[in-house]
Parts: sequence; C-alpha cells; structure tokens
Amino acid sequence: MLITRKFLIACYLISVIILSTWVWRSGYAKLVSQSNQQLDIFAAHLQSQLQRFDAIPRLLFDQKLVVASLQDTDNAQLQAKTNRYLNHVNNTISASDTYLIDLNGTTIAANNWRDEQTFIGKNFAFRPYFQQAVSGQQGRYFALGTTSGQRGYYFSSPVINADKIIGVVVVKMDLSKIEKEWTGKQAHFMVTDDDNIIFISNTQSWLLHSLTPLSTEKRHQITRSRRYGDKAIAALNFSGPLEDNPTLLQLTTSKPFATNYLSISKYMPAAGWTVRVFAPLTAIFIDIAIGMVLLSLVFWLLNLRLRLSMHKRQRDQDKEVQRIKTKHKLEQEVKRRTADLNNEIIERQKMEQTLRDTQKELIQTAKLAVLGQLSASISHELNNPLAAIRSYADNALVFLQREQHQSTQDNLQRIIHLTERMAKISSQLKFFARKSSGELHTVPLRNVINMAVELVKPQLKNNQISITVDDANIDVQVNVDQVQLEQVLVNLLSNAMQAVEDASEKNIHIILCRHQEQVIVQVDDSGSGINPANLPQLFDPFFTTKDTGLGLGLSISHKIMRNMHGNIKAENRPNSGARFSLSLPIAVITELA
Ligand code: ADP
Repeated sequence: MLITRKFLIACYLISVIILSTWVWRSGYAKLVSQSNQQLDIFAAHLQSQLQRFDAIPRLLFDQKLVVASLQDTDNAQLQAKTNRYLNHVNNTISASDTYLIDLNGTTIAANNWRDEQTFIGKNFAFRPYFQQAVSGQQGRYFALGTTSGQRGYYFSSPVINADKIIGVVVVKMDLSKIEKEWTGKQAHFMVTDDDNIIFISNTQSWLLHSLTPLSTEKRHQITRSRRYGDKAIAALNFSGPLEDNPTLLQLTTSKPFATNYLSISKYMPAAGWTVRVFAPLTAIFIDIAIGMVLLSLVFWLLNLRLRLSMHKRQRDQDKEVQRIKTKHKLEQEVKRRTADLNNEIIERQKMEQTLRDTQKELIQTAKLAVLGQLSASISHELNNPLAAIRSYADNALVFLQREQHQSTQDNLQRIIHLTERMAKISSQLKFFARKSSGELHTVPLRNVINMAVELVKPQLKNNQISITVDDANIDVQVNVDQVQLEQVLVNLLSNAMQAVEDASEKNIHIILCRHQEQVIVQVDDSGSGINPANLPQLFDPFFTTKDTGLGLGLSISHKIMRNMHGNIKAENRPNSGARFSLSLPIAVITELA
C-alpha cells in the first residue's frame, strides 16, 4: 500500500515536471513568436511614421522665403511672412513644430511665433540635429523639448544658398501620437536610447525612466547632452541580460512579487534607438498553474480511486478474516457442544445403565416380595413332605427291624418320591428367585404358565382356591425372559388370590387365546373386581389399595411386558371379578396333534 502510494507520488512529481516544462516551452515559444511579430509591426509602424517626416526639411531647404529670411534677419515683415509659412507647413504635415535656425543656432522663425513659449529667439546650437545640419547632413534626433518639455523627434536639414549653408530648418514630430495607437495592449512596447532610457512607451509610467539604474558618470553625461533637459531620469530596476534577444527580465518593484517579462528587442540604426517589446509571462504561469491544478485533480482522483480500491481490498480482507474467525469460533463451538453432547450421552448412558440396574434391582426386589408372600405356603409345602419323610423313615426303620422288607422298600420309595417333589419345589424356587439377565429367549408359553401355577399352588391349596388353565389347544412359543414372564404371572396370580380371599367362590381361571399375531393370556378371578376409579392409575408405581401392599407388582409387570414387546391391561369382567390380560407376539406356533 505504501509502495503504491509512493509510486503515485513519484508519478505525480514526474508529471508535474514534464507538464510544467512542456507548458513552459510551448508557451515561451508561442510568446516569442507573438512578441517578434508585434515587435516587427511596432518597428514598421515607427519606421513609417518617421519616413513621413523624413523628406520634409529637405523640401524646405531652398525655399525662397526661407532663404530670404535667413539673409535678412532684421526684416520683421519678412519674418512674419516666414512664420505664417512655417505654420502653414506645420499644420499641413501635422507636425509638432517647424522652425528656422540661423547659423548661430538661434531660431529666427517658427510656426509657434504667437505662443507664449515660442521658439523664436531660442538658441539650439547645442542640439546634435543642428550640428549635423550645419555640417551639411540630414539631422535626426530625439529629445525632450527644452521649451515645450514635450518629447519629439527632430528632423533637420541645412538651408543652402549658392552652395553655402546659411541656416537650418527643423521639423519636430510629436511622439505621443504613436503611443496612442499602442496603448491598451497587454505587452509593453517601448523605444529606448543607447542608455536604455525609455523614450516612447505605451506604459506612461515608464516614460523617461531607465531600464536599469544609471551610473553617476552616465547621469552627468546625459545632463550635459541636455537631451532630456532638466528631467531627472529614475530607474525601473529591471534585472537580467538586457542585451540578449530574446531574453527574460525581472522587474522588482515595491510589490511582494517580481514581474517576469519576455524581452524582444531590435536596434533601429537609422533612428538611433532600440525598439523593445516586454511581454509578461503571467499567461504562461497561469497556464502552468491551470495545468498543475488539472494534473493535481487527476492525481487526486487517481489517489482517491486507489484509496477506495485499497479500502475495499482491506474491507474484503477484514471480512475474510472475520469469516475465518467466525468459522473457527463456530467450529470450536461445535467441538465444545459435541464434547458436551458426548459427555451428556456418556452421562445419560451411565444414568440409563444405573436406571436399568435399579430397575433390575427393583424387579428382583418386587419378585422377592411376592416370594415372601408365597413363602409361608411354600414352607408349609416343604414342611409337610419333610414331616412325612420323617415318619416314613421311622416306619422304615421299624419295618427293617422287623425284617418286613417290602414295607421298608415301600416307605423308602415314598421318601424318594417326596424328596423328588421337594427338590422340584426347591428348583422352581431357585429358578424363580434367580436374577434374570433380561435377555429374551424363545420358550413354550405353556411351560412358563405351568411353572408360575406350580409356584402358587401351595398358597392356592392353603386358601382353598381353585385354579383352571384353559389353553384352548394353543401351543405357542414366545420370545421372552422366562423368569420375568413367570414373575408377571405369579404377580397376577398372587393379586388374584388376594382378591378372592374373602369371596364366597374362590376361582382363578387362566385362558389362552390368539388374536392375529398375538397370544393373549387372561387371568380371571372371582373376586370383587377393581374399583373403576382406580383403573387409570392401576399400573402407576406405588399405587396400592392394600394396607400392606407395596404397589409395585403391576407397575413392574407392565414394565416387564413392554420390555418383551408385549402388553398388559386390566378390566372388570362382566359378571364379577377382575381380568388381567397379557399379550405377546407369537414367535413360533406349534400345532398340536
Ligand atoms: P399391591 O398388590 O402391592 O397392592 P399391585 O401393583 O400388585 O400392588 O396392585 C395394585 C392394586 O391393584 C392393588 O392394590 C389392588 O387394588 C388392585 N388389584 C390388583 N389385582 C387385583 C385383582 N385381581 N382384583 C382387584 N383388584 C386388584
């Protein structure tokens, strides 16, 4: 970014140099050409003006009246006539003054004889144009009039009579008329003498000023020449190589900034002066300034564009960084949430495991509780054969002493039979009491029902309750945890036994039936039935209507049935008593022969 900026600044500086050089060169060349043209026109104009008067004195030099006047200077009438004649000539040629000088340099006749400041009687012997004429040449001179104080260009010619110079005739041209035509121009037009004193100029304030300060000696010389009379010549303070052409000059004034000019000059040897054009460089400087402003504008726009594009790039980069940051943050968040979730899953799995373990424990506890209820009858069931075994054993001993072998054998046989029965009860109890794994196996349903019935049989017998099992020839296998299904059946049978306890008829009826792919085991009893108000909460944990009940049997049975993809429901039978129905998907159907 810094490099691009530096590059742009370097380009700008180079462009500034190239543009300003080009504008300067082309502007300068154009100004030189324009100024040269104007100088030529100015010089030609001056030349033509001078030429207008050039021949006039020569035309007058042998005029009889003029000659006569010079020969007879005391003749007032003749002088008056000559004055009128010179006035007429002067008006005709639109000159400033026309006058006649004798050989002493004294004016004897002049067009301005009536004026207060008439030349008549004035001596011009010191004027170079007089000296040139009396020496027989055509005189030309520019100077400030000593009488009038007006600038003029003097044309002189000797008046000759019989090959002798007898006087001088002079025509003075008014230079201010030339200036009028050149005023209002942008450039400064001027005529300078050999001392660089401005004699003609379209800038009035510069008139009779020297371009550069004059030395004291030069001043004295100028004063002695009386070209400018008593006029003190001030300096304009131009600096630069004045002699060069073209050249650049600087004018230092009281203003804060110096003014620069292009100077074009041309020496006019016939007139004895130098014509000059000073063209201000302001236009070129303005052009350069405009060029600079435009260039700066272009570069400013370029810089703006650059900054905009850099800003955009920066913004895009920021956006990208922000996007990456957000993405990273999101990924971190996802990781964190995933880790949390994993922890939660592990926690949940642990909890589920704990729950499963607790449920198993609960099932086991509930099972043991039922077993507790059955224990009195079972122990009775075990004690009876035990007492019988004892008496059979005693008897067998007596029979053995009496050597009644057959009777001894019979008793021993009975003992064996009884122990087998006890072992069967014991093994049933052991099977029922063991902790189940929860794994499902395909077992014949009838076996499970038989086992359950066997377990409650002592209690049924004790309480004189009759039980019937109606299998309707249905022999199916179900996919169950046998111990748990047995537990459910023992629960139902145990509840049924309690329900019929006080009933006049104590019957329990187990019925098997099929419904589509399901086998249904109904446990009916002849008790007083279930209070309809309790039906909705019958399977809730800890719901009991019994004083010593735990309220766990049905809720655990419900849970066990759901685990085995089966169901349990309770209803009242139409006539009396309750009906609990277990439904299970049939795994295998064994057709009975
Ligand atoms: P508990 O036997 O400890 O009360 P259960 O969950 O086995 O717990 O039974 C809940 C309730 O359901 C019993 O208290 C009883 O009111 C009712 N109940 C269960 N079986 C029968 C039935 N065969 N006849 C009438 N009510 C029954």
